[in-house]
Amino acid sequence: MIFLDCGATSLQKPAQVAAAMIWAMGHCASPGRGSYCQAEEAAQAAFKCRTLAAQLFGAEPEQVVFTMNATHALNLAIKTLVSPGGSAVISGFEHNAVTRPLYALGAKVRVAGRRLFDPADTLRAFEAALDVRPDAVVCTHVSNVFGYRLPIEEIARLCREREVPLVVDAAQSAGHWPISLRDLGAAFIAMPGHKGLYGPQGTGILLCGHPLKPLMEGGTGSLSRQQEMPDFPPDAGEAGTHNVPGICGLAEGLRFVQRQGPAELLRHERGLLELALEGLDGASGIRCFHGEAQMGVLSLTVDGVDCETAAQELAAREVAVRAGLHCAPLAHESAGTLETGTLRLSFSAFNTRNEVQRAAAIIRELGNR
Ligand code: PLP
Repeated sequence: MIFLDCGATSLQKPAQVAAAMIWAMGHCASPGRGSYCQAEEAAQAAFKCRTLAAQLFGAEPEQVVFTMNATHALNLAIKTLVSPGGSAVISGFEHNAVTRPLYALGAKVRVAGRRLFDPADTLRAFEAALDVRPDAVVCTHVSNVFGYRLPIEEIARLCREREVPLVVDAAQSAGHWPISLRDLGAAFIAMPGHKGLYGPQGTGILLCGHPLKPLMEGGTGSLSRQQEMPDFPPDAGEAGTHNVPGICGLAEGLRFVQRQGPAELLRHERGLLELALEGLDGASGIRCFHGEAQMGVLSLTVDGVDCETAAQELAAREVAVRAGLHCAPLAHESAGTLETGTLRLSFSAFNTRNEVQRAAAIIRELGNR
C-alpha cells in the first residue's frame, strides 16, 4: 500500500514508537499517583515527553498539556477564551475542529482571508477583521485541504499589537514547520501527536501561554483535598488517568522529529510535493491546487470523475488518499470546491519518490479516460 493520507494520520511510524508503548504497558502505572517504582517510571516518562515537546516548540515542560488529539486541545483552548455568545476571528481555511466548537458556543464568527496561497491578502483581511476586538483569533497554520501555510508569524504580531489572544491550530504544521509558543506569544497552540509528530493515535498536545479553563473535572493527583480543579497547567487540562503508553510512543515520535531535524523533514516533503506536481499539474483532465507557501499537501480534481470514485479506484490499486471535504467545508467554500470536494495527497517522512511517481501515474490514467 502506498500511504498518501498522512494529513489524516501518519500510519507509518518509527519502530521505536510501538516498542515504547509496549514497554510502557509492562512498566508504567499512573504519573503523580504514587511513590512506588511503576508510578515513578510513569511520572518520569510523562515529564520526558513534556520536555521534548517543550524543546521543539519553545515552551516550558509545565506548559505542555497532554490531550487525546488536536480536536480536544482546540476545544480546551477555544472554550477557555470564548464564552457562550462571545466572538472570534478565524481564517477561511479552518477545520471543523475549530468551527464546530465556535458554533456550539453560539459565537459571532468573522471569517478573514479566503484567498488561497495569498499570504498578503490573508494578512490584510486579518488586519481589517481585528478593527472590532474579538475574544480570540483562532487560526490554522496550514490548511489540511490545500497545504496553504498561512502567515502565522505576522498574524501573531497583529494579535500581540491589538492584545487579542491567539489560538494556533498546528495540526498540519507541527513537525513540518518550526513553530514556537514563546516567539509567537500565542495564548495556545494545539497539535495532534499522531500526524507530523509520528506518535500514536489518541495523543495530542496543547501548549499553554495563557491560564487554562478545564473542560472536565476529576482527579489530577494534585491538591486532592480541594473540590475546585487546579487552575495551573498542565493539571487544569489533565483530569483523570493519562494515556501513558500513548505518551511514551509520542516521546519517541518527538525524538524522531528531533533526530531528523524539521528542516530535513520539510525538504523531503517539499521534494515529494514538487514531484507530484511535475507528474500531475497540466496533465489531461487534472486540476491541481498549488501556489505560494505550500506544504506537503496537494488537492486536485479529475474532470468527469467524482472524487470519492477516484479515491476508491486508487484504493483498489493500493494507493491510500482522502477524498471529499476533509472535515473542512469552510476551506472548500473559500476555494470554490464545496460542491465537488477534492482528492487529497499528503506526504510524510516515510514516503518515497517512487511511491509518489506511481500514484501520479495512476491519477493521470484516470484523467485520460
Ligand atoms: N485541525 C486540522 C487543520 C486538521 O487537519 C485536523 C485533522 O485532520 C484537526 C484539526 C483535528 O485533529 P485530530 O484528528 O487530531 O483531532
